Amino acid sequence: MLGRVDRPRSQKRRFAYTGLIRCGSCDRAITAEQKINRHGRRYVYYHCVKRAGDRCPEPAIEERDLERQMLSFLRSLPLPDAAFQDAQALLDQEGRSAGEVEEARLKSVTASIRSVEGELRELLDLRIRSFIDDEEYVRRRLKLDLEKARLSESLVARVETVSVIEPARTAYSFVFQVATLFEQGDFAVRRTVIETVGSNPLLTGKKLSIQAAKPFTWVAEITKFRQRCGVVDGDRTPAAPGDSGGDSALEAPAANDAGQPPPSPSRPAAEEWSALAKDLLREFRTEDCQVRTAKAAELLREPERAA
Ligand SMILES: [Zn+2]
Repeated sequence: MLGRVDRPRSQKRRFAYTGLIRCGSCDRAITAEQKINRHGRRYVYYHCVKRAGDRCPEPAIEERDLERQMLSFLRSLPLPDAAFQDAQALLDQEGRSAGEVEEARLKSVTASIRSVEGELRELLDLRIRSFIDDEEYVRRRLKLDLEKARLSESLVARVETVSVIEPARTAYSFVFQVATLFEQGDFAVRRTVIETVGSNPLLTGKKLSIQAAKPFTWVAEITKFRQRCGVVDGDRTPAAPGDSGGDSALEAPAANDAGQPPPSPSRPAAEEWSALAKDLLREFRTEDCQVRTAKAAELLREPERAA
């Protein structure tokens, strides 16, 4: 999974989290070592690499303690499913309106190309009937050809709306299963889990500080935004992740004139919301988010493969 093969060349034990965490005091790497007590029991300790000479004052931490903290971080990630459904409806809505704008643009570009093609036919007709000479024909033809090429280039769609929904769902499903994956996985899986979902892990005074990486925080970001705008989720009760009702969550609730409006931010926040949604849509397309989402999808498939 990490692209590394277990080679017998080294007798040295490999530790799950070496090189993954930095020291909160001196920003150096955290390394590991194994100790065996007089009863033959094996302990793995993690500590700052700066141990010789002017050594770093940070204490070492036992692996079990470190993993306990990792697990409590992972368990803190899921949000109520209702938050996910509302967040997804909003993101979907935004993606759709961006898609509509793009569709209108593409239609207008296509019409312009047709019109240039018409002009090219007329020009040829003028030449055939000797209303213009070769020189003028070539000059005007070149101009129209360039115009057509420019238009054709802009015919490529700029918004990939649909592609965002699936990664967004993957990122969200992942946070529900990540603690279990961590608990049940071997050390390569546990490392990949932390690498995938965590950002900037630091160790200070035996306390691990770690944030959730971007693609896994999008529901939280939307929830925070809505709370800031005073949009409360009413009497919606948090449901279990399995109760999402299949693909219905993908449908933005329809706003009809008489009925319930879709969950949307209040009007003064509309612009701010739009900016946040655009940021999120953009984030999902960054390389870092794509790599993390792909790793998450791979980890989600892992238990199926083992079964
Ligand atoms: Zn240090």
